[in-house]
Amino acid sequence: MPESQAGPVIFAAGSLMPISSPPLQDGAVLVREGRIEAVGDLVDLGRENPDAEVRFFPHYTIVPGAVNAHAHLGFRRKDAPEGGTFSGWLRVLIERLPEKEAWTAEAARDCAREAIEAGTTYIAESSPYGECLPQLAESGLAGTVYAEFFPHEIGTPQEAVEFIVAKVRELREGLPERVDAQVSVHSPYTVDPESSRLAARRTRELGWKLAIHLSESPEEVEFVRDGTGGLTDIFGANKWGGVGVSPVRYAQNIELLAPETIAAHLATGVSNEDIEILAQSGVAAALCPRSNYFLGCGVSPLPGMFARGIRVGMGTDGLWSSPSMNLFEETLFAMRLYGLSGVAGLELATLGGARALGIEAETGTLDAGKWADLAVIETSPEGEDPERDVLEAAAGGGVAATVVGGNMIYNRLGR
Ligand SMILES: [Zn+2]
Repeated sequence: MPESQAGPVIFAAGSLMPISSPPLQDGAVLVREGRIEAVGDLVDLGRENPDAEVRFFPHYTIVPGAVNAHAHLGFRRKDAPEGGTFSGWLRVLIERLPEKEAWTAEAARDCAREAIEAGTTYIAESSPYGECLPQLAESGLAGTVYAEFFPHEIGTPQEAVEFIVAKVRELREGLPERVDAQVSVHSPYTVDPESSRLAARRTRELGWKLAIHLSESPEEVEFVRDGTGGLTDIFGANKWGGVGVSPVRYAQNIELLAPETIAAHLATGVSNEDIEILAQSGVAAALCPRSNYFLGCGVSPLPGMFARGIRVGMGTDGLWSSPSMNLFEETLFAMRLYGLSGVAGLELATLGGARALGIEAETGTLDAGKWADLAVIETSPEGEDPERDVLEAAAGGGVAATVVGGNMIYNRLGR
């Protein structure tokens, strides 16, 4: 069980990085009822709030918790199919699903735990029909489960969409305050265009959010454009490819792209014209470079997305295509890939994900009014790029404590 904080608490560290403002030496956040009430100097906040319990980590750094913008919790670490090609990997994944050996409740619990111990405070998870929701809800994390649906298993497009909407309503019953369920239109090669369009319209009408996988692999590009390649026989039922356009253009044509939508991957075949479509639609992106690397899926055009003001967050994806649930490690990989500074990387891992998911008013920085979502990292950065030092420590097992909504849900220091 997470440690619950009844009275006000001050979390303080040798260095505090709010993201929205410069780092503070011996900086602190005052937390009351789960939310940040003030940010400032430890001595000042302590003097002004003598009733607050003080948790000071002198040789550590406090940063906002990582926001994982695209993940799957259900994969266990062993038995991952070979990487190399996306369609080969997916075929093995589908073959193994009926056995439920790879995609289990136990795996979901373990993955959530691993994310927490790596300083994650918010996860956007996608699973078939939202089946990983119970494990996310009991983990202490804040997050959203996007319920994927597969129309060929259900019926007509209308029936499929009504089914998943009803399912999400059912999933939402009795959840913790900061855990939520939404709909995912899994991908252009698994959900037919009519079901996709109806789901997008229906969820938008309800004021809900939507997650999709988009332009992830060379095979997806080939399927959408030419109707051929390794993804044409997925489920033996996807006959709608070959429309002669890119996956991004296709997604726009079937109304999937909107500010409420988060599109995962965007790794293969994203042209400048596609970036323009993405920017104009207001859709957000979740990038998973380690998964893309493992599956031979290319590199997302991050600089172009930044230049056009697209909201970008990072995602770990799942353990069958990615080595860990550590979002800070994922971000460090992206920093090396794109030559990003530590400041840019730390912002991507925290505020970037929050913006992409439309929750930046609630989390992603250490600011008064937001939830107290933070990670305590074992490093006193003194180098030229302190934010990079922090990311390197967090990527390498240096997370000592994780706090979600003021609750310390992980604390290996015992203080
Ligand atoms: Zn995914």
